[in-house]
Amino acid sequence: MSTSFSPTLSSNGSGSAAAAGSSYAGSSHAAARMAAISAVTSWRPISPPLNFSETPAQKIFGCNIFSRAEMKSRLPKPIYKSLVKTIEAGEKLDPTVAEIVSVAMKDWAIERGATHYAHVFFPLTGLTAEKHDSFLAPDGEGGAVAEFSGKALIQGEPDGSSFPTGGIRATFEARGYTIWDVTSPAYILENPNGTTLCIPTAFVSWTGEALDKKTPVLRSMQALNKQAQRILTLFGHSDGAFVASTAGPEQEYFLIDRHFYFARPDLFTCGRTLFGAKPPKGQEFEDHYFGAIPERVLGFMLETERELFKLGIPVKTRHNEVAPAQYEIAPTFETANLAADHQQLTMITMKRIAEKYGMACLMHEKPFAGVNGSGKHVNWSLGSKSQGNLLDPGETPHENAQFLVFCAAVIRAVHKFQGLLRAVVATAGNDHRLGANEAPPAIISIFLGDQLSDVFKQIKTGGAKSSMKGGTLTVGVDVLPPLPKDAGDRNRTSPFAFTGNRFEFRAVGSNQSIAGPLVAMNTIVAESLDFCAGKLEAATKGNPDALHGAVQSLLTEIINECESIVFNGDGYSAAWHAEAAKRGLLNMKTAVDSLPMLDAPEVKALFAKYNVLSERELKSRLDIYLEQYCKTVRVEALQTYEMAKTLLFPAAIRYQNELAATCANLKLVGYEFDTDTLDKVTELVKCLQDSCTVLDKALHDHSAANLLAEAQHFCDEVIPAMATVRKYADELETWVADDLWPLPTYQEMLFIK
Ligand code: ADP
Ligand code: MG
Repeated sequence: MSTSFSPTLSSNGSGSAAAAGSSYAGSSHAAARMAAISAVTSWRPISPPLNFSETPAQKIFGCNIFSRAEMKSRLPKPIYKSLVKTIEAGEKLDPTVAEIVSVAMKDWAIERGATHYAHVFFPLTGLTAEKHDSFLAPDGEGGAVAEFSGKALIQGEPDGSSFPTGGIRATFEARGYTIWDVTSPAYILENPNGTTLCIPTAFVSWTGEALDKKTPVLRSMQALNKQAQRILTLFGHSDGAFVASTAGPEQEYFLIDRHFYFARPDLFTCGRTLFGAKPPKGQEFEDHYFGAIPERVLGFMLETERELFKLGIPVKTRHNEVAPAQYEIAPTFETANLAADHQQLTMITMKRIAEKYGMACLMHEKPFAGVNGSGKHVNWSLGSKSQGNLLDPGETPHENAQFLVFCAAVIRAVHKFQGLLRAVVATAGNDHRLGANEAPPAIISIFLGDQLSDVFKQIKTGGAKSSMKGGTLTVGVDVLPPLPKDAGDRNRTSPFAFTGNRFEFRAVGSNQSIAGPLVAMNTIVAESLDFCAGKLEAATKGNPDALHGAVQSLLTEIINECESIVFNGDGYSAAWHAEAAKRGLLNMKTAVDSLPMLDAPEVKALFAKYNVLSERELKSRLDIYLEQYCKTVRVEALQTYEMAKTLLFPAAIRYQNELAATCANLKLVGYEFDTDTLDKVTELVKCLQDSCTVLDKALHDHSAANLLAEAQHFCDEVIPAMATVRKYADELETWVADDLWPLPTYQEMLFIK
């Protein structure tokens, strides 16, 4: 790839890059930028190519997990059966199995080269944490034996006292426990120098309070199952097969060359660019979306997928996304808890493999202004082994009635808890995306599609009449057309869309753990199913013949009360904002507006009632998320200030000096000359300096009464001050001589591959 910036291909006669090297010896950043460009273009793969014909993908799938098949072959039958009951039916784990499982697991791991084991957990930072311990224990005779007890499998006690706890745990009472989650298989983490046995765990305080993302996912799944069983029983399905929520997260991300990444302090510190003028070409040609995947990127994808296959993660889809250098990966759906663990592993694996290919994988919601950001659509449904997917419309009216109850329960849940759904996607990063006409608006609504909307319209208008007349099994449901598999068209602009046999929560941020959104969806739907079951049980009093009349009135009631949440139009349009306000829907534009929802009485009552999060646990989360917001914005602001002062301002005044010298020289020899450029640069330099002063003041001269006030200050004062600094810096970028500019440009980062 040739570029006009390359030192050997300087466009003007004097050789601008060379000049930068000599007369501006201090500008090593500009030199680093040039070096990055030539490094990118000479990149070669570092490892030999993979060979899928030698080792087909199906052969390696799951080879690094302590799978069902491994357990079956290594464990005594009763132990295996007992484990499967816990994994599949959510039955209480028999703690005595641990002693036997631990030995089998250790043997399996050591055969695969493991020297250590690690309890893996998911603290409230949203990241993945692990503490490694060696299998080796001294044998008392100067040697050592490999050991792994049942206790070590079941329980760990990492001194994780530095993780955020939101006041649940002070450092002086640092006991926190990791507890084996048998529903998520243990796996081998590979490293060229050895392997580690990894055990997914929940992380709780010594009082049993959740300090992590996993515990409430498991609790919410339990709550959802309990309520779903009541509905299924009403419909005559009382086999009790565990109803699990299912999730399929579609992950969007960017890949850029690591040389650029490390030449941008904003990228490697904040995960997003804090500066960067708009390049001449962005995504307007839509030439990247679903385009041919560049070779190096495809190499990365193939190796990432292969690593994920080994871990039993069913990755399925890959493609180019809308923005240049943006891509997507999506797995086949799994039960929610497993999907959440696998999603975390997927993100870690992607970052690790990207390095091998000389690239940085950016998961931030908005790495580059002016082109699309990244989201993580979380496809969600619920189902059981015997009933299949409960949000599948099915073929017969009888099944439709059951489907309609589940579907109506979701509609009611989203309507009632729209604020909570907004709050669980509220982060500083996601604020750059929501409502920015590339992602759903900050208003939560449901897209049902034409067909399903029509069904509910019929229920609303005709249903009550029919139920009065007949009261038979299919009254009001008979008149409904059999639903096609795909209940309508797609809608890219809806935050919560029905997509044929599941809902797709599209407002989730790309950098987020999906656990929070899953906990919210599971719990609000559990509450709604509880409501529906209560109504139906009261109306039928055990008489199955009364069911369909009762269903009819329930559906009518729900649609009458909740139809304002249904919106099938363009969520990006200004008209929708006005319409949503008229409908009384919440529109919380920023994370700071939304997070206090976690403190709303109905939300506290919800989580407490279904034993998902106690009031104290919920409050701790709110505090942690507000704190995270403040920290994120503070680091970005400090980074903005530092880069403006020590990278961009110096570049600007060097150029200013060059211009001034030129003007002085011209004047000396009696030439007519024009100072427009010098005037403009001088003006922008002044604006940059002044805006830095304002930012510095916003950062330092304030006091806030509490965490929320602090977050509000960052939102209202610091973020706009950063934006102003950026505005002048970006304008300077378009004036200052290119060979003096110290940062890789948007054009370079997004297009030089
Ligand atoms: P589409 O192109 O229609 O979005 P995909 O095949 O890309 O379809 O599916 C999107 C995601 O939805 C995938 O991760 C898939 O596993 C997930 N998905 C499909 N069915 C379900 C379900 N019942 N529950 C949860 N997720 C599902
Ligand atoms: Mg999709």
